[in-house]
Amino acid sequence: MIESLKSVTPISIEVLTKKGEMSIRWADEVTHVYSLFGLRKNCPCVMCRGGHELMDQFEPGFFLVDPSLTTGGKDLRIEKILPIGHHAIRIYWSDGHNEGMLRYENLRYWGEWIERNKNSDQE
Ligand SMILES: [Zn+2]
Repeated sequence: MIESLKSVTPISIEVLTKKGEMSIRWADEVTHVYSLFGLRKNCPCVMCRGGHELMDQFEPGFFLVDPSLTTGGKDLRIEKILPIGHHAIRIYWSDGHNEGMLRYENLRYWGEWIERNKNSDQE
């Protein structure tokens, strides 16, 4: 497998409901952890993004919000995750929403963004 493909190929995806997190282990041995709140807020569907022209605009800052501080994070759960081909997953949320198709390349990008930014206010 070529190196660039490994970085967008998950080996395992784990939902940690109590912590309000989902983790992805990629084929290049990197693991990224995402808050459910951030994932829900960054749902890429037309409805959540507010229009077709906004579909590629995301707000990764939501991943840095402490889920315990948000009403959205408190009762938010993932009911199930289905793979879509080899390039994306669909998340079925406890609020009934399941329109968003999360591309692995976006999840990888967000994971690296979170790694770069999560400790920035403690430096
Ligand atoms: Zn959505």
